[in-house]
Amino acid sequence: MSNERQRFVDETTDQVRPLEKDYFLSEWEAAVSGTPEALARTQQAQAAYMRSWSDVGRYEAAKRYNEQAGADAELARQIRLIYLTAAQNQQDEATIDRLTALESEVRGRYTNFRGRVDGAELSDNAMDEILAKSADSDEVRQVWEASKQVGGEVADQVRDLARVRNEAARRQGFRDHFQRSLTLNEIDEAQLLSLFEKLEVESRKPFQSLLQAIGEERSRLFKIKTEALRPWHYADRFFQKAPPMGAFDFDSLFAEKDPVEVASATYDGLGMEVRPVLARSDLFPRPGKNQHAFATHIDRQGDIRTLNNLERNHRWNETLHHELGHAVYEQYLDPQLPWLLRAPAHILSTEAIALTMGSLTLDGEWLTTILGVPAARAQAAAQAGRERRRAGDLIFTRWCLVMTNFERQMYADPEADLDAIWWDLVERYQGLRRPEGRQAPDWAAKYHVALVPVYYQNYELGTLVSAQLVDRIVGHAGGFVGRKAAGDWLREKFFRPGGRQDWSTHIASATGEPLNPRYFVDRLR
Ligand SMILES: [Zn+2]
Repeated sequence: MSNERQRFVDETTDQVRPLEKDYFLSEWEAAVSGTPEALARTQQAQAAYMRSWSDVGRYEAAKRYNEQAGADAELARQIRLIYLTAAQNQQDEATIDRLTALESEVRGRYTNFRGRVDGAELSDNAMDEILAKSADSDEVRQVWEASKQVGGEVADQVRDLARVRNEAARRQGFRDHFQRSLTLNEIDEAQLLSLFEKLEVESRKPFQSLLQAIGEERSRLFKIKTEALRPWHYADRFFQKAPPMGAFDFDSLFAEKDPVEVASATYDGLGMEVRPVLARSDLFPRPGKNQHAFATHIDRQGDIRTLNNLERNHRWNETLHHELGHAVYEQYLDPQLPWLLRAPAHILSTEAIALTMGSLTLDGEWLTTILGVPAARAQAAAQAGRERRRAGDLIFTRWCLVMTNFERQMYADPEADLDAIWWDLVERYQGLRRPEGRQAPDWAAKYHVALVPVYYQNYELGTLVSAQLVDRIVGHAGGFVGRKAAGDWLREKFFRPGGRQDWSTHIASATGEPLNPRYFVDRLR
C-alpha cells in the first residue's frame, strides 16, 4: 500500500516537474521581453502544465489516497498536495484553452500598457512619481485617469475569465471560483470572513483619524477644501500605500543609495547570501518589460530570480527587500525534501517573509546601521519610519478589505454592475469619495483582479503572520536588523521545513502558537 502510494507520488513528480519548469521559464521570458512570441510560448507552456494536472485518473487516485489514513506524514502531505493541485485543475481541454488564451491576451495588454496623457506615454513608474510629488490637481487627475485606461482595455476579458473560472468550480460542486480557490488553498472561507470583519472593526477608528490627518495635509498641498479631495489626490493609483506625510522627506534618504547594495547589506546582516539571486535577476526598468515585481523559483533546485524595476526611492527599496524575502525562503528550503515539498508552506507564509523584509526599510535601527542615515537625521528618520509603517499597515489593511470583498462579489455574480460595486467598497473601506459621474471598469485596472485571482487575502494573512514572527524573533535574538541569530531562527524554524506541514500547523510549530491577529492589531493603535 505504502509502495503503491510512493509510486504514485514519484510518477506524478516525474510528469509535472519538467512542465512546471518550462512554464516558469517561459513566464520569465515573457515578463522580461513582452514579445508576442514569448507570450505565446507562455500560453502553450501554461496549457501543457494545466493539462497534465487536469488528468482525471490522477485526481481520482489522489482523492482516494488522501481519504485513507497513511502512516508516513511526509508521504501523506505529498498526496494531499497532489490532490489539492489536481482539484484546482479539474477542467476539460476546451476550458483550459479558453482560460490560457484569455489570460495570455490580458497579460500582454498589462505588460505593454503605458498610460497616455495628451498623446505622451507614461510608464507606471512615471505615473507613480507624478502622483506622489505633484501639487497640481489637474495633473494628478489626468495621470490617475490615464492609469485606469488599462481597465477599459481588459474589462470584458476579465469578466469572461470570471465566468470560465466559475463554470469549472461549479462543475465540481463549489458555489463559485472564490469558494473553490480558498478551499483548495486550505483556507476556511467562514473563518477568513470573520477574521476580516474583526480587522475591519479594529482598524476603523485609527484609520479614520489617519485619513483625516492625511486629508488635511493633502488639501493644504493642493490648496483645495477637504471635501474636494478625490482618489487622485492620495499619491497612489489605488491608495494602497501611505502618501508622503509630514515635513520629513523619506524618499530623500534613498536618493544617493544603490538599492542592490543596500539590500545585499540587509541580508548579509542576517547571514543570508542574496548575490547569486541578484546576478540571475532582471532589476531595472526598460521599455516592453513587465512593470511589476515578482520572484520565481524556476526549477526548485536553486534557480531563483527576481524581476524589479528599481528606482532610488523608498518604494523600490522596499520592493527589492520584499522580493528577496521570497527568494531566501526558497533558497534555504531543505534541499533533501522531496520535490513536491520543496516549496514554502503556503503562499501566505512566503508573503509573510516578504512583508517582514520589506518593512525593515522603515525600521529605525535599519535606517542607521544599514542605510547609513547620519546621526543628525537619525531620530527624525526613525520617527518618520514608525509613522509610515503604522499608516502603511492601516491603509493596506483597508485596501485588502476592498480587494477581497470585491473578488467575493465578482465571482458571486460576474454579470453585476461591477463598476458600482467597486466604488461602493472603496468608499466604505478606504473612505475615498468616488469621482462624480465616473462610469468605468476601474476594478479591471488592478492586475491581481485579472491575473492573480483570489490572492489578496494572502497578503493580509501574511501581514498577521509577519507580526507574530517579528515578536518571536525579537524575543529570541534581541532584535532583527544585523543579527545573524535572527536569520538563523528564520532559516531553521520557518524556511527549512518547506511544505512538510500545512500553513497553520507550520506557524504553530515555528512560533509555538497558532496564528494570532493580536500582534498585528496591537501595532495599529
Ligand atoms: Zn510578495
